[in-house]
Amino acid sequence: MRTLYQFNGGVHPAEHKQESNTQAIASAPLPTQLIVPLQQHIGQRAKPLVQVGDRVLKGQMVGQADGDTSCAVHAPTSGMVIAIGDAPVPHPSGLPDMCITIVPDGAEEWIERTPLDYQSMNPSELRRHLRDFGLAGLGGAVFPSHVKLNPGKPAPGKPAKVPTLILNGAECEPWITCDDRLMRERAAEIVAGAKIMQHLLNADEVLIGIEDNKPQAIAAMRAACADTPFEVIAVPTLYPSGGAKQLTKILTGKEPPSGGRSSAIGVQTFNVATAYSVARAVLHGEPLISRIVTVTGNVDQPRNYEVLLGTPVNELVALASPRNDTQGYIMGGPMMGFTLPSDAVPVTKATNCLIASSPKLFPPTPPALPCIRCTQCAQACPANLQPQDLYWFSRGRELGKAQEYNLFDCIECGCCDYVCPSHIPLVQYYRFAKTEIWNQEREREKADVARQRHEFRLFRMEREKDERAARLKQKQKALQTPAETGADPKKAAIQAALDRVKAKKSAADIAPKNTDNLSAEQLQAIADADARRHQAKPATATASTAGPTVGPKVEEDT
Ligand code: SF4
Ligand code: SF4
Repeated sequence: MRTLYQFNGGVHPAEHKQESNTQAIASAPLPTQLIVPLQQHIGQRAKPLVQVGDRVLKGQMVGQADGDTSCAVHAPTSGMVIAIGDAPVPHPSGLPDMCITIVPDGAEEWIERTPLDYQSMNPSELRRHLRDFGLAGLGGAVFPSHVKLNPGKPAPGKPAKVPTLILNGAECEPWITCDDRLMRERAAEIVAGAKIMQHLLNADEVLIGIEDNKPQAIAAMRAACADTPFEVIAVPTLYPSGGAKQLTKILTGKEPPSGGRSSAIGVQTFNVATAYSVARAVLHGEPLISRIVTVTGNVDQPRNYEVLLGTPVNELVALASPRNDTQGYIMGGPMMGFTLPSDAVPVTKATNCLIASSPKLFPPTPPALPCIRCTQCAQACPANLQPQDLYWFSRGRELGKAQEYNLFDCIECGCCDYVCPSHIPLVQYYRFAKTEIWNQEREREKADVARQRHEFRLFRMEREKDERAARLKQKQKALQTPAETGADPKKAAIQAALDRVKAKKSAADIAPKNTDNLSAEQLQAIADADARRHQAKPATATASTAGPTVGPKVEEDT
């Protein structure tokens, strides 16, 4: 029996799971169009590979990963590309982003799908395939999976490894049930994905944490793990036990250092849906083109759907029959999610849940009152922060102080908001402060680059001035006769001869030494240049004997 540990704080909001977790996952029908954003993951946006008018196949890569922290995007069905450009996307900023819009042809014609023999494959090659399959974390963070599945550099004399792999099936946010249904219905493929992940990380143990309010999911996962050493562990229901750091603490007792990730302590955590998508990709050759989405809240038929990425939200939520007083849609849960700027945005890799909101379900928050220093927020904070101090620093724009108080350890879980008797929107203040700090850092970086450029320009100008002065001095010296310089004419003649030998040697040094790979034209150009140089030399020599007036000039021209 594994010992479980407790993280600080946490809250118990009303669960609202039963509304959507009783029915099996349904397949959402083909929408009228699919809007595929090129940025559906953390990191660099994918680069488009298709053009307007192209016919694409289901699973065809339409956006290529741009760099290592990036991943590909694919056509979710066969059809015609009708637009490439800015379109509304699900982001709190409400700003549009580059999308590829495809009109389905209804044929659902797949690309050729090739399963991978992952055990005999080079790990780097396998990770490259995962990137090209478009795999990113499906718990909401959408970090490219191939990056997290790299165990890094090995310690001297030891193989590279991350000793503990955790699959996160906690699903602690209210209303969301997509992982619950996935574990109940597709446990075997989640376990198959965990085996591939374990192989890549060279992990010694695999722990699967599930909140104890999902008994059917726990039973299904235990049955699927029966022939494996994997441990399925029921963890107490307490928000936010599904946070990567919180689940790591619960299952292992370990806590990453402030500002660090759990990989720093030998633990890597993935959502169960990510493990499922890894299995579909590696064992069936299917890129990530769909995901399970919970549609719930102010609707008559709440349920989980398997949805093609790019499906417009308005077409998906229509399946669940939203009620007339629906005001908008929250993407994610009510604690960490955000209200969508419009229901025309598409479902993306990050869309785990859509909650139809109404004034009855989510009444407006009362106006904020002054902080009364009750410290309830600190008692609820799972990151061991002092939210009331962070609030004062963020509000007063004392950004340095906020960083000193570990602002960036805040996971924006909303526990402090939830308990605050003064209804202060604390998380909004933290998001504002973080954005300000990032902006300042970007400005500082820009200023550093500008300063370096300016300093280099000054240095270059100074150097050119010195060089000009040196050349002038050399010319003046060359114009002086031996009588003017007071030098012995015989010695001057010897020196002139030595200078000529030196000049000849330098010319020989710069002659091309390896001409094997040069073309006939290039060899001819070199020969012409040599001829010109040789023609110039007698003049130099003659002038040197008469007085070195031309020598330095020729050197300058060369
Ligand atoms: S819970 Fe609210 S009122 Fe109490 S200390 Fe925290 S911020 Fe202030
Ligand atoms: S939002 Fe941040 S400060 Fe507030 S409880 Fe969560 S981790 Fe702590």
